[in-house]
Amino acid sequence: MKASQFFISTLKEAPADAEVVSHQLMTRAGMIKKLGAGIYSYMPMGLRVIHKVEAIVREEMNRAGAVELTMPVVQPAELWQETGRFEKMGPELLRIKDRHDRDFVVQPTSEEVVTDIARQELRSYKQLPKNFYQIQTKFRDERRPRFGLMRGREFIMKDAYSFDRDEAAAKVSYQVMAAAYRRIFDRFGLRYRAVAADSGAIGGDLSEEFQVIAATGEDAIVYCPGSDYAANMEKAEALAPAGPRPAAANAMAKTSTPGKSTCADVAELLGVPLATTVKSLVLATDTLNESGEIVKSQVWLLLLRGDHDMNEVKVSKVPGLNAGFRFATVSEIEAHFGCKPGYLGPIGLKLPVKLVVDREVVVMADWICGANEPDFHMTGVNWGRDLPEPDQVADLRNVVEGDASPDGQGALAIERGIEVGHVFYLGTKYSQAMNATFLGEDGKPAHFEMGCYGIGITRLPAAAIEQNHDERGIIWPDAIAPFTVVICPIGMDRSPEVKAAAEQLHEQLVAAGVDVLLDDRGERPGAMFADWELIGVPHRVTIGDRGIKEAQVEYQHRRDAAATKVAVAEILGFLK
Ligand code: ATP
Ligand code: MG
Ligand code: MG
Ligand code: MG
Repeated sequence: MKASQFFISTLKEAPADAEVVSHQLMTRAGMIKKLGAGIYSYMPMGLRVIHKVEAIVREEMNRAGAVELTMPVVQPAELWQETGRFEKMGPELLRIKDRHDRDFVVQPTSEEVVTDIARQELRSYKQLPKNFYQIQTKFRDERRPRFGLMRGREFIMKDAYSFDRDEAAAKVSYQVMAAAYRRIFDRFGLRYRAVAADSGAIGGDLSEEFQVIAATGEDAIVYCPGSDYAANMEKAEALAPAGPRPAAANAMAKTSTPGKSTCADVAELLGVPLATTVKSLVLATDTLNESGEIVKSQVWLLLLRGDHDMNEVKVSKVPGLNAGFRFATVSEIEAHFGCKPGYLGPIGLKLPVKLVVDREVVVMADWICGANEPDFHMTGVNWGRDLPEPDQVADLRNVVEGDASPDGQGALAIERGIEVGHVFYLGTKYSQAMNATFLGEDGKPAHFEMGCYGIGITRLPAAAIEQNHDERGIIWPDAIAPFTVVICPIGMDRSPEVKAAAEQLHEQLVAAGVDVLLDDRGERPGAMFADWELIGVPHRVTIGDRGIKEAQVEYQHRRDAAATKVAVAEILGFLK
């Protein structure tokens, strides 16, 4: 590829709304272009990266026995009504009408359509197992689209769905996918962790997220450096024993000043997405006097609005807890959570308890809390002006750095991650809702056992950049670089020797199957190098007059501090 035939458009400044480095650099490198909130054009340079991500995913999915198809982006609402998701899902589901006033959705994922295909096409156990996947545009009307491709509204996802004859076979399919995901993420050349994830009411334990480690990640992950234990915060907290916390900074005690704060603020403060189901949060606050003695301890029950992407609000009753949950008394909290009013730790204790939820309550605009004093509750409570910094958020949780790992293999550590993939055992949730059956070996119809498996194709490059950049720009891992090698001739227009050497090397590399770009734009060296350092091509070969006379070119890896001289005769072998 020659630069003159390609499209390169770099910027000195990042747009004002780009908060994280990947968003800044992808925009400056001309990889993406914003059209609206969370909606981007993938420009030629960015599309090359996306295609490389797709190619790796496709290769490994095929290797794992999955079969590719493509399902429609716009889907009739009828299927979504069969599973109830048309009504149950929150505003993240984009609903549209056609000219006949018929309802449609823009796919945020495709369980309904793929289950519909399966119930028509997979008639016998002999056709199982099957795993269908697509690499397709998704739309989720995210509450806060941000960070460029990291949390877009329109984005590309690889979504796969496995169909099996029984639970044991479905779990095998799940493990095949989990192993394929490890191969995929290994190939990207990124530091990542597979963490156990909470799969909610269905599916039990079989859910893992693949998290790329990055300080800007929106998720907190808990792991044990001495063992394989790793879980997302939600899962880690579900397993953690409730009990007094060490006396950490008593930030929470100061924060119960009445004022105004939305559920979103609380969720953000805690670093958790607004929950799938309405979640309760019990925390203890101590009021200290001037000499630091505790004069009052309170246990608070907080309720976060369920406004998650899938918004599958469970309307299950929790015995013993106040219906309607305007507030809970101390005895209710004690009875339900086993928390003592004298509980002294200042740390929040988040419990994945499914509460009684009426739809009108779910959409309440504020959060409500109750304290361990009879009839004492507050609404619209503010967390005060002393909001902790995001990196202190872990202190507000039940699981904190240094806690014993559940596997007894040492102390827990916490780091932040970007969810780039998710594997999930679904059981018969969708096949039952849609009455999708096949004929079993015994001649009787049985519901498909399913799993679903996603990878954020367009989120992945952003995660790669969060992990691999410096002050000059992106540093792509070879596997997903827009070009592997860039040839930078100096004074190509003046020197026929440089031109000939550059073109020859370009042709040789192309012939050798190397993804190479020849920068024939005639830019000054400084501007040319700045562009390629910003764009992040990992390998650069500079060809100049002086070097050519000595039959030498200069090679520099994007991470190298300086260039190395390499003989022209050797450069090809060096790069291949
Ligand atoms: P998140 O917790 O970040 O909102 P999710 O759990 O809702 O993600 P899944 O439903 O598990 O996402 O979808 C599978 C994958 O799709 C995710 O692991 C992620 O990599 C990607 N993805 C989800 N939402 C977005 C988005 N808004 N923009 C880009 N990629 C996304
Ligand atoms: Mg989401
Ligand atoms: Mg998630
Ligand atoms: Mg997920």
